[in-house]
Amino acid sequence: MRYDILISKLEFFGFHGVLEEEKKLGQKFIISAKLTIDAPNAVEEDNCDKTVNYSDVCHMIGQIVEKERFDLIESLGDAIARRILVEFPLVESVTIQVDKPWAPIGLHVDNVSVVITRGWHNAYIGVGSNMGDCQANIEAAVKYIQESEFNRDVKVSTLIKTKPYGYVEQDDFLNGAIEIKTMFSPEELLHFLQKIELDLHRTREIHWGPRTIDLDIELFDNLIINEPDLIIPHHEMHKRSFVLQPLCELNPYLIHPVYGEYLIDLLSKINN
Ligand code: ADP
Ligand code: MG
Repeated sequence: MRYDILISKLEFFGFHGVLEEEKKLGQKFIISAKLTIDAPNAVEEDNCDKTVNYSDVCHMIGQIVEKERFDLIESLGDAIARRILVEFPLVESVTIQVDKPWAPIGLHVDNVSVVITRGWHNAYIGVGSNMGDCQANIEAAVKYIQESEFNRDVKVSTLIKTKPYGYVEQDDFLNGAIEIKTMFSPEELLHFLQKIELDLHRTREIHWGPRTIDLDIELFDNLIINEPDLIIPHHEMHKRSFVLQPLCELNPYLIHPVYGEYLIDLLSKINN
């Protein structure tokens, strides 16, 4: 069963802020939280061990507000949201409000606050390599993804050998798909994957040319994004069997949010 836990106006004394006085003298911070929980048996069994212990959440929030230091209350709120998602796996999403009633703005003000929301998303990443030890490159990329606390429940498809696409004077590719639960936003996930590509010494000399590793976001929940540097679903996925086949192995009934069709049906259209 899904339900929300609301925590209102927890008060702490902390040292967050840009000004030297704020870092030295400190001030009051008030935290409110909304946690959306998916706990299969807690309510049915009336069992406290199967839900999220809100007392533990409150004390953990206190540790962060009182022991850590941030310039921005945005960063403080995000740190709290991320820690809750990591420490309490039953929490699907969390909204944190940070109030800073003594904010030094030189005017009478009742309160200044920020509200930050983070949650777990389902994302699918296409991975390809055709330089060096392709299998090792892909395994290294998967390790990066697994080791970030922003990701969990990482599953990798079978890797398949494919002929190059576009620029053909190059070695065969090894392709696969990776399913993750991630608390990154789509833009953050793109930057995270680009950093892995750089770390694995990806070269970009020829468009569609040889690469040690290529990591593309194929799907992110059922979002449709059209930004200059980020297109989701990946614009070519419905035409590429080396993308669709591994995705279908992980989850054949994923729905392409633009075409509104199951991936398994899109795959059978290319194969016929
Ligand atoms: P490709 O993957 O198309 O063979 P690149 O990996 O070199 O080529 O990607 C080029 C650009 O594609 C990147 O700079 C990135 O900003 C952009 N891009 C747009 N949408 C996506 C996406 N869904 N996943 C990854 N990169 C994307
Ligand atoms: Mg790419």
